[in-house]
Amino acid sequence: MRLYQLDSYATRFQARVERAWSDGKGHYAVLSETLFYPESGGQPADTGVLRGAFGEVQVLHAYEEEKAFGDVVHVLSAPVPQGAEVEGEINWQRRFRHMQRHTAQHILSQALLRAGGYHTVAVSLDSPLSTLDLAEEVEEEKVRQAEALAAFAVYADYPVEAFWVSEEELAHYPLRRPPKVQGKVRLVRIGDFDLAACGGTHLKTSAQAGPIKVQKWERYKGGTRVYFMAGWEALEDYHAKHALLARLALAFSTSALDLEKPIKRLQEELYALKGENQALKEALVEALLPRALEERVLLVPQAVIPELAKRLLSWSDKTFLLLSKEGRFALLGPGKERALAALQALGARGGGKEILQGALPRERIAEALDPGLVS
Ligand SMILES: [Zn+2]
Repeated sequence: MRLYQLDSYATRFQARVERAWSDGKGHYAVLSETLFYPESGGQPADTGVLRGAFGEVQVLHAYEEEKAFGDVVHVLSAPVPQGAEVEGEINWQRRFRHMQRHTAQHILSQALLRAGGYHTVAVSLDSPLSTLDLAEEVEEEKVRQAEALAAFAVYADYPVEAFWVSEEELAHYPLRRPPKVQGKVRLVRIGDFDLAACGGTHLKTSAQAGPIKVQKWERYKGGTRVYFMAGWEALEDYHAKHALLARLALAFSTSALDLEKPIKRLQEELYALKGENQALKEALVEALLPRALEERVLLVPQAVIPELAKRLLSWSDKTFLLLSKEGRFALLGPGKERALAALQALGARGGGKEILQGALPRERIAEALDPGLVS
């Protein structure tokens, strides 16, 4: 008996261990009944504990032995004896979040169907940023409409009910999605807003799923993957983003919603400075070139080393060493390998092809500034 289908708000239950076994990977038990939701339909499994005369063991995972109607297998931290009476308790905080994600997904799937005729074909609810996959490509306006519809469905505080119908009765119910199982089918109704076949755990009312926020979407397998957050997790996300914006607003001495202006200004200044910096570098390279050609071992600003080295390479076939006061260096010309060996003797590391580049310990720079090195 799957007790979570009778009452998705129950957290403790009594049961008997019907089967128990272990293998190289872990310990397992099937119980006479359970509140542990087995991973399925995109909703992650419950975790929790089993208590009994044997003590307490952790329930690490739960899965269906066979899809849809198989026994629920509990994966345990330690073995339990077959036939034992147990009290089980699920991790309620984790379950409630799953119920918020899952109920929000029902609401959002219906809202996307109503707003844009978009059909949900797959869902994944195993992280706070949940996804649902649509068969169609979407228009932004329709997604925003769907988001508003989902908010209305939350505020309408619709009751959420689950009930069973036979296969024959099924034709009378206008389902959002046809059931994947045969025989008796469990339907989940959210007021007069949504009706779908589902074996999962749901909230008592639509209001408990809010807020529901679409975060982004992207093209996926010819359709669209929509990312959303719901309930506590959407609220936590809002708190985190609000705090971030508040910190940025403080740093820029503005209000959160006016942040784009100073950031844009900063970007423009950065582009202007980059251009200016490039022009200055080029001018400096020009100015340094005659001395470099003459002296061949030269202390220069680090920023101009790559450009100056390239210019020397195209202007001369002699050997050069360019060194910065931070210890960065470039070596080029026919004697570069020999000069590198001499620098390595001073503790330098580096390499390359046409231009050898690397770094030297700062305290050895004075010794490296030796014209004999490149002659
Ligand atoms: Zn469901």
